Parts: sequence; C-alpha cells; structure tokens
Amino acid sequence: MAMAIGFFFLPVRQWFAVFEAYVHSLGVIGPVIYALGYAVLTVLLFPASFVTLGAGTIFGLKMGFVVAVVGANLGALCSFLLARTFLREKVVGWTASHPRFRFLDQAIGKQGFKIVLLCRLSPIFPFILLNYFLGLTAVRTAAYVLANLLGMLPAMFLFVYFGAAARDALDAQPSAATDFYQQVLKYVGLLATLAVFVVVTRLARKALRAVEQAQEGSVVTGEPRLNENFSAVPFDRMVLIDDPHDKQLLENCRPPRWVNPAPAKKYNLVVIGAGTAGLVSAAGAAALGAKVALVERNLLGGDCLNVGCVPSKSILRAARAAHDAMNSVPFGIALPGKAEVNFGAVMERMRKLRADISRHDSVERFTKLGMDVFIGSGRFASRSSIEVDGKRLQFDRAVIATGGRPKEPPIQGLREAGYYTNETVFTLTELPRRLAVIGAGPIGCELAQAFQRFGSAVTLITDGSGILAKEDRDAADVLHRQLEKDGVRIITGGKIQRAEAKAGEKQLMFTINDQAAAVGCDAILVAVGRAPNIENLGLEEAGIGYSIRGVEVDERLRTTHSRVFAAGDVCSRYQYTHAADAMARIVVANALFLARRKVTDLVIPWCTYTDPEIAHVGYYEESARAAGFDVTTLVQRLSDIDRARLDGETQGFARVHYDRKTARILGGTIVACHAGEMIGELTLAITAKQKIGMLSSTIHPYPTQAEALHKIGDAYMRTKLTATVQVIFKKWLAWRR
Ligand SMILES: Cc1cc2nc3c(=O)[nH]c(=O)nc-3n(C[C@H](O)[C@H](O)[C@H](O)COP(=O)(O)OP(=O)(O)OC[C@H]3O[C@@H](n4cnc5c(N)ncnc54)[C@H](O)[C@@H]3O)c2cc1C
Repeated sequence: MAMAIGFFFLPVRQWFAVFEAYVHSLGVIGPVIYALGYAVLTVLLFPASFVTLGAGTIFGLKMGFVVAVVGANLGALCSFLLARTFLREKVVGWTASHPRFRFLDQAIGKQGFKIVLLCRLSPIFPFILLNYFLGLTAVRTAAYVLANLLGMLPAMFLFVYFGAAARDALDAQPSAATDFYQQVLKYVGLLATLAVFVVVTRLARKALRAVEQAQEGSVVTGEPRLNENFSAVPFDRMVLIDDPHDKQLLENCRPPRWVNPAPAKKYNLVVIGAGTAGLVSAAGAAALGAKVALVERNLLGGDCLNVGCVPSKSILRAARAAHDAMNSVPFGIALPGKAEVNFGAVMERMRKLRADISRHDSVERFTKLGMDVFIGSGRFASRSSIEVDGKRLQFDRAVIATGGRPKEPPIQGLREAGYYTNETVFTLTELPRRLAVIGAGPIGCELAQAFQRFGSAVTLITDGSGILAKEDRDAADVLHRQLEKDGVRIITGGKIQRAEAKAGEKQLMFTINDQAAAVGCDAILVAVGRAPNIENLGLEEAGIGYSIRGVEVDERLRTTHSRVFAAGDVCSRYQYTHAADAMARIVVANALFLARRKVTDLVIPWCTYTDPEIAHVGYYEESARAAGFDVTTLVQRLSDIDRARLDGETQGFARVHYDRKTARILGGTIVACHAGEMIGELTLAITAKQKIGMLSSTIHPYPTQAEALHKIGDAYMRTKLTATVQVIFKKWLAWRR
C-alpha cells in the first residue's frame, strides 16, 4: 500500500529512469549488480514482484528473465540458509519435546522437493517469507534449491514479460498469448495450492499416527517414557572379578588403573557406547583420519563380547557336546560310563575364550588406533558437547551407540525373589538344579536348551501362544519338539502374577487358561525382551528425539539433531551384532563424508543358535504378500538330503520365497543344525538381487546340508518345464534321432 501511494505521489518514475540509466552505464556488470541487489532485497524482505518487473523493464525479456531468476534464487537461498543457521537448532530443540511437530518436521524433510515446488507454484505463499520459513524446517538444501528453481520459473517469466512490455511501451491491453499464459498460470497456481494442502494434511495425519504409535509403545510396557532413576548393572556383577580369566578380560576392556586422557579441543567424532556399534564407528572413523573419542561406562565390547553372543555361543557349543556324548549310542558309540557335565569347567572354558577374544575390543587396541578412550557415563551437556567423568568433549559429529539391556517384567515380588538376566547369568559357577526361564524368544530358548542339556530341570514360560513368536510356526514347532525331547517343560499362555522366595526355593505363580498354577525352581532367568539405553543421556538438552523404542533416526541413521547419529540396538529393531556393525559403517560414511547410505538398503539375516538352528533372511511369506509381491514358496525337507541323513540331523527344512513375476528371491527360512552357516547363501542371493534359478545353477559340494537350497533351485527349474515345453522338447529330440 505504502509503495502504491509512493508510486503515485513521489517522483518514482523519474527515479527509476535515473536508476535505469545508471545500470545501463555499468555495461556488462549491470545485470550482475542488479541480480546481487535482487538477492539482498529478498533477504531484506522487499517485495520481489517489483524487482522482477524492474528486471524486465531494464533488461528486456531474455536478459531480464536470467537476471531475475539468478537474483531471486540467490536471495531465496541466502534467506533459507540464514534461517537454517541461526534458528533451525532452536526449532529442533523445541520439537524434541513436541513429538507431533517433530514427526511433521521429519515428514516435511522427506517430502521437501514436492512441498517446495508446490508452494512456489501456488500464488498464495509469499515468496520472501516462505524462504525463511522453509529454512526452519527439515527440508534438505539441495531439494530446496532445485525445487525453488523449477517452481519459480512460470511466475518469474510472467512478471519479467510485463516489465519488458512496459519498457517497449507495448499496448496496455494484454495480447491473446499473454492472456492465455495468465490463465494457465492461474489454474496451475490453483492446483498447486490445493496440492500443497493435500500433501501437508496427509503428512500431518501421518505424523499424528506416528506419535500415537510411539505413545502406544510406552503404554504396552507400562514403563515411564524415560526412567531417569534407572541404573545400569555395573561391570563387577557381569564378571567374576577374582577369576583369572575375568581379570584378564577386565585388564583388556576396563583396565583397573585406567586414567582418562585430557580431552582434545574438538573431536570429529565422539561415540557414546563401546559395544559393536560404537567400536566399529570409532575404529572406522579413526582409520580414516578422524580425531575420535570413545566413551564407555562399563566394559568395552558391550553386550556381544561380555554378556551376549560370545558367552552364550560358548556354552551352547558345550551343551551340544554334552548332548552328542549322551546320545552317541545310535551312532554305534558306547561310552564306558555315563557322560557327565562339569558345569564349572563349561563356564571356565567360556570365561577363558571370552578373555582371549576380548583382546580385539581392548582399550589398548583402540588407543593404539589413535583415539581417546574415556571410561565413564557419557551424556550430552549441550548440542555440541558430551560430558564424561567431569570432562567436556566438544564434537563436530556424535554417535549414540548405547545399546540395550534386558527388560524387567512388572511381576510382583520378582526383584525380592532374585533373578538372573543375560547380564548376570554368565557368572554362575554351579548349575541350578531347577531353572525357570521367563520368555521364549531367541535368548530364552537358547539358554533353556543349554541348561537343560547340562542337567538342570528347565521350565520355559511364555505368555505367547508359542515359542519364537517372530518365526514361521512350523519352524518354531521343530524347535518346540526338540526342546521337549531334551526335557524342557514348555508352558505357553502362562501369565505370571507373582514371584516368591521361601524355604530356599523360588516360586512363580501364574495363570493359564484362567487356572492358577505355580512353578518351583532354584533360579529364575528373565529373557522377556530388550529395552534401549536412552536414560541419563541428556537427549532433551541436545534436542534428540526418542521414544520407548529407542533413539529416533531417519533411514540414514541421523537423529533429530542433524550432527548426531545413532547405530545398533539403541535405534534398531534388528538387534544383532552384524546389524550393529553394518549400521556403524553407514554412520561413519554419512556422518563424516556426506554419503547418503541408507539402513533400509541392508539385507540383514539372523539366526537363533539352538539345536536345530533357525535362520531367516528377507521377507516371510505373509510380509512379502503385504508388500505386494506375487509370492511363491518352495520347501525342501532335510529328511531328503543325504548329508542330513548321514549326520542324523533330519529335522528341519529350507524354505525360499520368490516373486512369481520376476523370479527374484524375496526371503527364506532354514531350520537345520547349521542353519546360521547356510543362510549366508540366501543373503548373498538377495543382496545381489538374484533369481531363484541361480540356486540351481550354483554348484554345491556333495554331501552337504546346503544341498537343500540347490534342490529348491532345481524344483523351481522344473516348474519351467511346462507341458507345452515338454511336447516341443520331445518333438525336437524325435526329429534328431
Ligand atoms: C544373551 C544374548 C545373546 C546374543 N547373541 C547374539 C548372537 O548370537 N548374534 C548376534 O548377532 N547378536 C546376538 N545378541 C545381540 C547383540 O549382543 C547385540 O545386538 C549387540 O551387542 C548390539 O551392539 P550395540 O553396540 O548396539 O550395543 P551394546 O553391545 O549393548 O553396547 C552398548 C554399550 O554402550 C554402553 N553404554 C550405555 N550407555 C552408556 C553411556 N551413557 N555412556 C557410556 N557408555 C554407555 C554400554 O555399557 C555398552 O557397553 C545377543 C544378545 C544377548 C543379550
């Protein structure tokens, strides 16, 4: 309004003429100066339409268009970057405590190109304000620049055209072409406006759903969202501190005389947590020349080395040996006496192997790799620093790799009765006569079988309808039968109400089909799932979003703080060592080298190491159908595989799903004594996007159990031999005789 008044009452036309003459007097740098001036005025929120008209008037249509496009885009980018640099962090900090807006922001970030393009085409969003607004959101700069450029072109052309027309004193009445162009622009603008509203409404709805799901998560477990009173099990309850092997482990993974170094001025990368994800991130970054700090509150090596894969697989091997020794007669081997388990020796072997392996994860090795190792609890002190042991570590990038811990079920009296989890069970030196295992996931099943085979009377209780809920029912059933054959008592659908310890024994009171029942035991092992370690990390201070499921990350493993990433159990539903390792590699590339690798591109297999093992990769039949594939499944029983028969290991099968249209392998499950070794072949095939026929053309050594996959490939090839093809072949061969 002020401008319009000024235009009529001030000598604006004369001023403009002087200005025009001045710009022309500058010669070739005139357009450059004009474009730069355009950018500055955009940043200063001066209405861009006047400057665009001016460009047309001063330079004519062609040059004016170029000048206006360059100036407008430059100004838009500067405004965007100003908002991004000075205000974005505040927005992120605010959204950390407003999940609805956080999800919306993330969604806008993902759909950035589309949203910017539509906003630009729509006439109702003011150009100069929108630049700043978009800078506050998670829209990526590259998407913003490109969409801006494309979205501005039509309106820009129109304004420059009018400006040029004024200069050339074309008739004030728009020509038919101009009229047509104006109409087109009007409708495009209208459609774009509608589209912006549709897209943003859809995103908002999705964001709302995501918040609701996250909140459901906290309701399901009945835990508060963040238990600040939680304290981690200390390392001296995870190992036997007087045992020589565990002393060696401590010497490696938490040297008793360790003194934390003085922090460097700034680190390229600070990693919190020295489990697989933390160690691999830290080692990868240090090997590439980064200045790295690694922070660990307990033992380097994390769960896998100390209380997870390594000790559990060591005792599972011993359990298999016990089982083989006790079941040698069918093989024609009679032992002179009854095979006996020396549980103390089993556990000592485990501690020795664990101590040996711990050298790979030692403080000494990692300091030699050139990084600063800090022992102590790390927490974000600000958006750019982490505090540990009273020291501040300034970072350019940080990784949260704090893993998870066993969930504690809300069972009345359980704490008082006393129980083991994976964090404490490997300190046992005497075999419990009777063991109750709560939870029938992979950890519960593995340890139940091992302890039963060592001689404990094991009861495995789950409130679910079967063991290994995630796996195909027939796969889990094979293991169910084997566990019962081993002597494990399996209670499904058992809802534990209370635990008690009296007269030297523990009791678990539960209901099953609404009937009350109880199990007596000498020790209880809890394995009901995992909770992410997100407490006391200062996530709010750093503006990092999280839910009960862990730290929130996008597909590139970036948290809601653009310079902080996460990897491993703390942010993933794939809670395996190899998954943590793969995520850590992605983090190093994305955090330090601007790569854009996605965790969603990973093909992650897994295995439950019971006897038989159950391994899986890719889709299950149902999930493949849900994803829209036309699924066909082929199964090969091990009872038809020579090597399985020779080994006496005929329970089990291999199953492969493929897409009928493309023949591409989608997923598979293997139940076999060494399924974990066999699943690698399917994983490779899926990673390499291979077709199922490839299993037939790959030569497998004879006799191996992996021949099951070869036979599945052959079965697929036979489906190609249709009746028509057979007739053609017959005719061809008859003709050749
Ligand atoms: C019994 C059992 C058996 C398993 N067997 C297998 C298997 O056979 N194969 C397999 O692939 N996976 C297995 N897993 C899973 C595997 O152990 C985990 O997936 C893997 O350890 C995850 O690595 P991570 O680095 O994410 O976390 P972790 O290994 O849990 O490491 C996280 C580290 O962060 C530290 N930390 C936490 N908070 C802080 C803080 N504030 N400051 C400093 N440090 C902190 C913790 O002390 C810990 O050392 C098993 C797990 C269990 C429990």
